[in-house]
Amino acid sequence: MRDVLPLREPAPPDGTMGEPRARGRFGEYGGRYAPESLVEACREVDEAFREAWADPGFRGALARLLAVHAGRPTPLTPAHRLSEALGVRLYLKREDLTHTGSHKINNVLGQALLATRMGRRRLIAETGAGQHGVATATAAALLGLEATVFMGERDIERQALNVFRMRMLGAEVVPVTTGSRTLKDATSEAMRHWVGVTGDSHYCIGSVVGPDPYPWMVREFQRIIGDEARGQCAAELRTGVPDYVVACVGGGSNAAGTFAGFADTRARLVGVEAEGGAGAARGRLGVMHGCRSLFLQDDDGQIVQAHSIAAGLDYPGVGPEHAHLRDLGRARYVTVTDEEAAGAAVRLARTEGILPALESAHALAWVIRAAGDGELPAGSTVLMTLSGRGDKDVSTLKELL
Ligand SMILES: *Cc1c(COP(=O)(O)O)cnc(C)c1O
Repeated sequence: MRDVLPLREPAPPDGTMGEPRARGRFGEYGGRYAPESLVEACREVDEAFREAWADPGFRGALARLLAVHAGRPTPLTPAHRLSEALGVRLYLKREDLTHTGSHKINNVLGQALLATRMGRRRLIAETGAGQHGVATATAAALLGLEATVFMGERDIERQALNVFRMRMLGAEVVPVTTGSRTLKDATSEAMRHWVGVTGDSHYCIGSVVGPDPYPWMVREFQRIIGDEARGQCAAELRTGVPDYVVACVGGGSNAAGTFAGFADTRARLVGVEAEGGAGAARGRLGVMHGCRSLFLQDDDGQIVQAHSIAAGLDYPGVGPEHAHLRDLGRARYVTVTDEEAAGAAVRLARTEGILPALESAHALAWVIRAAGDGELPAGSTVLMTLSGRGDKDVSTLKELL
């Protein structure tokens, strides 16, 4: 089951991917559904972020951290051999080359810097596979903050290496024993914990989800991906702008950051979800973790557990702005299977010498499929965000090879 490309190219709608409307609304999605004490805390984050984002001093300090600590700008790599085999021109935005190995560092450095500006001395975070937890622990260590990371007990068992990395970086890892003992429960627990400590702690959410201002703020911290890529495409491509812009979607932060750089162009935006975590492609309207968006639900409206070979895509919902972009027809959302993603990871390794994260391999799997069945016209230029490196996935891949 596959939806068809729109016949006409979407015109660049004015203001798409600008600021959300009042109370953090993206169309009918978003908002701030939280207990009163958290609504107040979110209001403070919102105010501090608006001020900081308008302050060249803050922007400069963040840009410097991203350069000297995280290794930005990341390169745009033409995938020569794979492009030739596919009959398209594929360019990879290399977030895998950042410090800690994924785009998550862009967001946590922004939020950690904001937390210090707000006078907070501790970061709270949730984590699934541990990637966001490690990034948060890293930013906390760098800026002299404490870090408390909530993680489902099941994930702690599955991700021993990342648990060790977080502890090595000085973070406290708190096991969550409720519900399915995975990311969804860790997020609920982190929010509950924040209620009691909003005065001295900042909740550092890892994707474009949660109550306003997080979906907007996290997208703004991730738009460095799209902004850099826009400039690099202008220098590299004859047309200046690629025909397609593709990224994988868990909560949707690397995709939102990438799309933000191209929202005002004629590039077609494609978000690729895991078959078992397709919040944008198959979710229904609901409210979870402080925000109204699309979530996988059963007939009673209960949130369904997501399943993906890629831990970072194992989230049953999607950020509210993606739900809105889908409704507008500005972006489309497709799914690929575990097998397609694993195959794409191996193919990139063997044609380009790059071992991608299994999350990123989902985006590539769609490019490979779409080039193969003619959905991507021959000769198309494709920008794909390679959100992270694959070292963390070797034991998963070992079982499949
Ligand atoms: C966490 C993660 C993702 C998914 O998160 P988004 O918010 O959808 O970007 C994708 N790729 C990698 C490498 C990740 O670590």
